[in-house]
Amino acid sequence: MNEYLDDLTEIMRNACTLAQRVGQGKSFLKQDASPVTVADYAVQAYLHLELKKRFGPVNLIAEETAQEFEYHDSASLVKKTQEALSPWHPSIQREGLLEVLGSSGPRDPSKGSHWVLDPIDGTKGYLRKEQYAIALALMEDGVPLLGILGCPNLGGLGVPEEGKKGCLLYASIGVGAQILPFGATKWSKIYPREPCPMQNARIIESVESAHTSQDVSKALLSDLQLAGIVKMDSQCKYAAVAKGDAEIYLRLPRSESYKEKIWDHAAGYVIVKESGGIVVDFDGEELDFSVGTRLHGNRGIIATTQSLVEPLLLWIHQNKH
Ligand code: AMP
Ligand code: MG
Repeated sequence: MNEYLDDLTEIMRNACTLAQRVGQGKSFLKQDASPVTVADYAVQAYLHLELKKRFGPVNLIAEETAQEFEYHDSASLVKKTQEALSPWHPSIQREGLLEVLGSSGPRDPSKGSHWVLDPIDGTKGYLRKEQYAIALALMEDGVPLLGILGCPNLGGLGVPEEGKKGCLLYASIGVGAQILPFGATKWSKIYPREPCPMQNARIIESVESAHTSQDVSKALLSDLQLAGIVKMDSQCKYAAVAKGDAEIYLRLPRSESYKEKIWDHAAGYVIVKESGGIVVDFDGEELDFSVGTRLHGNRGIIATTQSLVEPLLLWIHQNKH
């Protein structure tokens, strides 16, 4: 898997630059009422074109669709997406954009090789100029084997100096998880904080109360006397656990019928697991990425450390969450 690293480093770094340059600008509402921006479409088109150019024909499962792009029906959206891509793909036309965005439709991830992409994970965080992540994973026969996150607003190793935000995180099976702060030339290994007694453990959860049951985190904080709750958008939460900035990422959808999308988790999942952490669902089961584009077989997600997972699952069981 490490044969991909040099190309991925270059294109993920460019994708971060692209997202930062585009700026927040206007957002559009998708049919499910979630926001989407020029950066979502431009990053997805950029990464898809580059994956094809560098690795040959690829299967991509990605969040954005040509159908929604057309539905916004705005000449300015097309123009701004072309402008965002122009340093790398200066001659792309509307038809080319529709073609590349249209060729990442739903596929069966259980067989063969699939790249899984959320071009701007945490679009709401991006719009608030807070945390967001460009999240790319490679799955083989339904198992994520490689994950890379581009986190333009996340601190690197240790406390970042003013103006020194931004990092890439990378992991592939058997190789461990690593970080490359923007500006650095060498990747460094990362690890969760271990051992960490329960009273020093920090929970990390979504900023958006619609995306997780924040009441469950509050109850856990008070029952087990934890150190605090940090709120953060996007898969930067997985990055925080993997590099020891928080110990418990909790996510329990508020509605039983909501099933998590694979592009919201695949990259972060590999990074936490390879850092030495654990990712399971609320029943202690492995996440199953092979059953479609959603985690149909799982309920809730916990990403945490080896030493905290058992007491957490016990608390969840005893409190019937
Ligand atoms: P976060 O930034 O962790 O809050 O997660 C952002 C992701 O939450 C988006 O990429 C959406 O796909 C996903 N999302 C949207 N609606 C929900 C929901 N009702 N429950 C859980 N996740 C959701
Ligand atoms: Mg997302």
